[in-house]
Amino acid sequence: MREAGVASVADLLLHAPRRYIDRSRVEPIALIPLGEEVTVIGTVRSVSTRRARRNMTIVEARVSDGTDVLKVVWFNQAFRSRQLVEGAEVALSGVVESFRGTRQMKAPDLDVLSGTSESLTTGRVVPVHSNVKGVGIGWIRRGVHNALLRSQPIPDPLPADLRRRQDLLDRDSAIADIHFPESIDRTKPARRRLVFDELFRLSLALASVRADRERNAEGIRHQPDGALVDAFRAGLPYELTDAQERVVAEIFRDLEGPLPANRLLQGEVGSGKTVVAVLSLLAAVQSGHQGAVMAPTEVLSTQHYLGIRRLLEGAGLAPEQEGEGAALGMESLFGADRGPSIRMALLTGSQAAANWTAEVTRGELVKAISAGTVDIVVGTHALIQEGVAFGDLGLAVVDEQHRFGAMQRQALKSKGSGPEPDLLIMTATPIPRTLSMTLYGDLSVSMIDELPPGRTPVRTVAMARDREMGAWDVVRSEVGKGRQAFVVCPLVEDSEKIEAASATGEHVRLSEVFDDVRVGLLHGQMSATEKDAVMSAFRLGDLDVLVATTVIEVGIDVPNATVMVIEDADRFGLSQLHQMRGRVGRGTGGGICILLADPSTADGEERIAAMVETNDGFRLAEIDLALRGQGTVFGERQSGMGDLRLADLIRDFDILVAARDEAFRLVGSDPHLSDHPELREEMAAFMGEDVRWLFVS
Ligand code: ADP
Ligand code: MG
Repeated sequence: MREAGVASVADLLLHAPRRYIDRSRVEPIALIPLGEEVTVIGTVRSVSTRRARRNMTIVEARVSDGTDVLKVVWFNQAFRSRQLVEGAEVALSGVVESFRGTRQMKAPDLDVLSGTSESLTTGRVVPVHSNVKGVGIGWIRRGVHNALLRSQPIPDPLPADLRRRQDLLDRDSAIADIHFPESIDRTKPARRRLVFDELFRLSLALASVRADRERNAEGIRHQPDGALVDAFRAGLPYELTDAQERVVAEIFRDLEGPLPANRLLQGEVGSGKTVVAVLSLLAAVQSGHQGAVMAPTEVLSTQHYLGIRRLLEGAGLAPEQEGEGAALGMESLFGADRGPSIRMALLTGSQAAANWTAEVTRGELVKAISAGTVDIVVGTHALIQEGVAFGDLGLAVVDEQHRFGAMQRQALKSKGSGPEPDLLIMTATPIPRTLSMTLYGDLSVSMIDELPPGRTPVRTVAMARDREMGAWDVVRSEVGKGRQAFVVCPLVEDSEKIEAASATGEHVRLSEVFDDVRVGLLHGQMSATEKDAVMSAFRLGDLDVLVATTVIEVGIDVPNATVMVIEDADRFGLSQLHQMRGRVGRGTGGGICILLADPSTADGEERIAAMVETNDGFRLAEIDLALRGQGTVFGERQSGMGDLRLADLIRDFDILVAARDEAFRLVGSDPHLSDHPELREEMAAFMGEDVRWLFVS
């Protein structure tokens, strides 16, 4: 039972039926019409299994309901004989036809309603609970029934005014009606109330995380209006889009404020998040603090470093180059008779680089970072984890590949004393609103919902694998026009090594397919130096085609690349495909994405179809969520999210919005829930250790 999350009476009561059978709509066997979908309920009289030709197993049962006996058959479903016990009460849903003069139901859906010794005393609507390991659903139904008899009335922790406002059923009725409704109609408000409970608890936890942070934290008041920001804006080769301007204003308001900002920056691939991040960093730097940019991989860190460095140079903010032996630790901002300049550095597990000198050691950088003489540091997440101490960190920008839950984020931040840096999280993948309100529900959200002008949307086509020559023709023709191409190798599960090997093999093969084209190779098993060399060769145009594994998924920005061929595309997740596609069409030359695939699953086929149909990342994220289900999105490690049993984040979006409003309102007026002891207790019980500490004043 425990394995299925049913460990207590409360759990049992919340183990809602997975469906209901309305007895008033059940057909008496004697009156079943032929050829229509019907449900019958009856007692199993006999069961037999036999083998027929070609290894076919036939399970045959006779079921009677007092009006007549019905013959039921299943082909090649041997397990049915184990489900069907003589004397058990079952519900069968299917079509009855006449076969050699006998009426029979072929391969119906089967619900075993009770074992042999139980009788069905549950009224007009029969709840069908899902099985819990080792325990029959008859037992569960009786268990729930008994528990309800014993425990009534179940107290309701929700404030009465809230319940009225949201038109919610009381909890006692909701639990009674979800299990044993008098009519099917009654299950709707019951379910709505129980779903509200789940989403309300989740939202309360998020609201508390936020309230707690704002209560205890001392933030930095940055000054976003200033010389650096002005100089940078003036030096930009393009105008910011309206969406970028709006988002910058939102972030600047955060930065100015007294509280440490926690903001999620969302934006479609290529929408220009980087320049927004740089403006934010400059606001922090011109206020006398340092900025950090953290990215999930070495390749991406390097690219952010180079990209930001280039932007700063373009804006005339590069520092004077220091020769050998020049002292680190000089005044970083306003040099003697030059305009403002920015000292920035790259620090990862294997690299150290700086924009004011050609040679710098790791040790020197670490020292400069803690002395506060580097303004902006780019690196992997290891930056904050491996004891690199910032002299005065004012803003951390996290380019996040993986989704962290609110609790984990809070744990990451809850160390150190003194003013807390502002935090700006950029997501590499657009997420549907329903997810940003839960996973990131404690954050403020900014969204860049517009692409820079002049982009031609990437055209996406699907091709069967045996037509791959067509794809290579497209690559050749683009390369002939001076463009570049990516070829993404098939995904190999579970092993970066095998994946690297397969990419290496594909590199050899494609080098022959394209005999007078320069083909490079990039995979995760290469050293950082090797990866770097390949990436800069590709960036500089010394390579025409880059054969790569998914290491190119994240953020790689080579505007001259116009073709992306993804092999066995059906094996990749949707958001991954969309990320990869975002690597082309970044310049003005348009782009084409070719998905080579012979999908072997329905999901795979749907993913390919979705990619061909739309370039809208949010739409794709929603399709992805629907295809994969919320469970896999949250995963095990999303503590605090495990409480969602009934709630379906897509279907119950409206309830989520309502629950969230109410939760933030309540925490606003009663931050520790001291006026709502039952709720407080419930939070501790449901959310466990994760949130218990949040309510400690
Ligand atoms: P993201 O990180 O959101 O995927 P980037 O920040 O890498 O996108 O920007 C993608 C490309 O668009 C870059 O080449 C960048 O120089 C360019 N870009 C960004 N903002 C604008 C703008 N307002 N106008 C024109 N080009 C822009
Ligand atoms: Mg980016």
